[in-house]
Amino acid sequence: MNDRTYDVAVVGAGVFGAWTAYQLERTGKRVLLLDAYGPGHSRSSSGDESRIIRMGYGAGEIYTRSAMRSLQLWQEFFAGVDEPLFHQTGVLWLAHENDPYPAQTAETLQKIGIRFEKLTTTDVTQHYPQIGLDRISWALLEPDSGVLIARRAVQTVVREAIRNGTEYLQEAVEPPTGKGTLDSIVTTNGRRISAGNYVFACGPWLPKIFPDLLSDRIHPTRQEVFYFGIPAGDQTFTSPALPTWIDFKDEAYGLPDLEAHGVKIAIDRHGPAFDPDNGNRLASNEGLAEARRYLALRLPALKDAPVTEARVCQYENTSNGDFLIDLHPEFKNIWLVGGGSGHGFKHGPVVAEYVAARIDGSNEGIEPRFSLASKARERRRSVY
Ligand SMILES: Cc1cc2nc3c(=O)[nH]c(=O)nc-3n(C[C@H](O)[C@H](O)[C@H](O)COP(=O)(O)OP(=O)(O)OC[C@H]3O[C@@H](n4cnc5c(N)ncnc54)[C@H](O)[C@@H]3O)c2cc1C
Repeated sequence: MNDRTYDVAVVGAGVFGAWTAYQLERTGKRVLLLDAYGPGHSRSSSGDESRIIRMGYGAGEIYTRSAMRSLQLWQEFFAGVDEPLFHQTGVLWLAHENDPYPAQTAETLQKIGIRFEKLTTTDVTQHYPQIGLDRISWALLEPDSGVLIARRAVQTVVREAIRNGTEYLQEAVEPPTGKGTLDSIVTTNGRRISAGNYVFACGPWLPKIFPDLLSDRIHPTRQEVFYFGIPAGDQTFTSPALPTWIDFKDEAYGLPDLEAHGVKIAIDRHGPAFDPDNGNRLASNEGLAEARRYLALRLPALKDAPVTEARVCQYENTSNGDFLIDLHPEFKNIWLVGGGSGHGFKHGPVVAEYVAARIDGSNEGIEPRFSLASKARERRRSVY
């Protein structure tokens, strides 16, 4: 116990910071959570309607195990708040011939004991006749996976953390200065806050706060997402008739119509560099044309469907896609938490457990792949 006001100040109420504050509070810490714009706001990476939670990560066993534990923790959390913020749509991997990723995914799921089904193209057509299978040679279904209702899930985690005693402030924190043990942080409103530890879970803002350290280790990229309207009164494109699907080789994925937003289509290729505060969030015609081409390929009946919503979000990519969860090298009590790299949302609960264990001084289960030292400057994506 120290004489500071809080045990931990968590800066950033996206999915990583929200879960970290919630988890720390549950382990008896005095926690302050701050966010510049508000939990799950529209400029944050966590701020869209929905995020996929799937177990498949090719041969990437650490993320498969983390996704499995996270799904359990999300479901336990939602049971306690009685909100349907997880939709078990199933996740269907569409496998192209000679694509090793779905095959490796099957091996990893088998090894860990996660339920999945291998489907022939005939099976897929029988179950999901609305899906076009051009160039697809087989499929893998994760029946227990699905979609998290992202923004509202983050807001609910923050609400529950506050109910349990976490304090929350909507203020922006200035970049910390000095070295050694950080005494306090200051907000742009001039408020000084003192805590034993500081967690900077600032997603795509991390390189702005720590430019010397992170500007060439975390790269925010512009990503466009489109929602397409389904025909009136038609259930063909909603869950459970249509699952979430991932087309790894074509770098694209789709979500069924959930909560009446429309079918969501996104291209999972890194876009240009992007500023999370001031970047232009109007989707481009080129992006729409590409999303529509993909929609026409996989859901031909929707090829002319109107756009109901479009979003511009950003990934915050590390060199290879591994998370960054480590101490700041010049401070004994600043934790850097981020690098979600386009796949981090689902892992919020496990990231929080990991951060809480580090703050408690545990050396058990330290993952070298999350270290700052492992973050190269050269970009070579290998985690998806
Ligand atoms: C288009 C798109 C699709 C994706 N799809 C998936 C998916 O299907 N499945 C999946 O698991 N993941 C997915 N992801 C990735 C996932 O959304 C992110 O990895 C995750 O949301 C990152 O959360 P975060 O908490 O690190 O960052 P954020 O959500 O950006 O939160 C950071 C917070 O820090 C706050 N902040 C920053 N600076 C300060 C400051 N100085 N003071 C106070 N507050 C500050 C910000 O306001 C913000 O709220 C996707 C991402 C995108 C963009």
